[in-house]
Amino acid sequence: MAEKRKYICVLFNCCNVYNRIYVNKDKTAYVGWCPSCMRRIRIAIGREGTSNRFFTAQ
Ligand SMILES: [Zn+2]
Repeated sequence: MAEKRKYICVLFNCCNVYNRIYVNKDKTAYVGWCPSCMRRIRIAIGREGTSNRFFTAQ
């Protein structure tokens, strides 16, 4: 079964915008940038993964 590249939706409080961020190549975290101010964020993936699809970047 082909696995699509996973992503999550993040609300960036800095600019009040949503963006999708993707799993890094080591599958240890989701990494991405605020589309407005380019602030970089990283959300670690737990051992059992996360079922949440939405996050807020403080
Ligand atoms: Zn921003």
